[in-house]
Amino acid sequence: MKQVKLHGGERIPALGQGTWRMGERTSDHNREVAAVRAGIEAGLTLIDTAEMYGNGGAERIVGEAMGHRRDELFLVSKVFPHNASRAGVRAACEASLERLGTDRLDLYLLHWRGSADLAGTVAGFEELQREGLIHHWGVSNFDAADLADLWAVPGGDACSANQLLYHLGERTIEHDPLPWMRQHGLPAMAYCPLGQGRLLEQPGLRALAERNDITPAQAALAWLQSQDDVIAIPKTSSPERQAENHASAEVTLNRDQLDELEQLFPRPKAGGPLPIV
Ligand code: NDP
Repeated sequence: MKQVKLHGGERIPALGQGTWRMGERTSDHNREVAAVRAGIEAGLTLIDTAEMYGNGGAERIVGEAMGHRRDELFLVSKVFPHNASRAGVRAACEASLERLGTDRLDLYLLHWRGSADLAGTVAGFEELQREGLIHHWGVSNFDAADLADLWAVPGGDACSANQLLYHLGERTIEHDPLPWMRQHGLPAMAYCPLGQGRLLEQPGLRALAERNDITPAQAALAWLQSQDDVIAIPKTSSPERQAENHASAEVTLNRDQLDELEQLFPRPKAGGPLPIV
């Protein structure tokens, strides 16, 4: 599998698995644990979760699915802005670790800027790092102006990644903040890489996939992975789809296929406010 360099140098997989909407209903518990486990077995060892998802339930699903394979994984979780004071990040992180059943996160993100005092958040992240509770920290849903504010805070330029809404049908970030991030060597984690499933109904994408003997999801994920500094984190509660999504790592789109996707999903002419879900 391709690797992407975090700002700071460590290489991590360019494809992982998301967990939003997991851990919400007891009736889905076993299926979700099985799906995350199937993803790990297929090779999707980067797992994205958050204290927000299922009110902690998604982290519990990940912990259960992980079992004894902690060392093979790259675990990402996120803190709410209202928990992201210097002292707050510690309490939130410890609670996440408890739910995940581990002693460390590989990457801890501020979920969105909200009312967070960035200096306090960074100071809190640095403490967690010093004590080994997290290896890296980063942000999510930050536009270029937010990133510039972060870079102005002591230690703020140690941010490892920015997680953003990005897929073939939503390319606004190519105007802001991707250029800023590329200038500063900051990779993007693309959330909703399948447009929450809706993108996959697009007739042109379906036709392209069929002609090339791949699935629409694989085409969408391969497009993201064709960029050197983008990590895609599709979510599925189906074990079969985990294998399908993982196989996108083997798909290399050629120039003609990339051009066809560009025609089907052109980059918007102008930027706009940062898209979020
Ligand atoms: P995705 O774009 O990953 O789409 C998920 C949907 O696509 C689900 O309905 C899933 O259904 C379906 N799906 C998955 N694989 C396939 C496939 N191969 N074929 C057909 N359908 C498929 O949306 P998400 O919103 O889940 O985003 C991905 C992850 O990004 C989240 O889970 C979360 O970890 C993160 N995220 C972060 C945000 C942030 O603010 N930082 C915001 C939103 C998401 P099914 O499960 O039934 O297979």
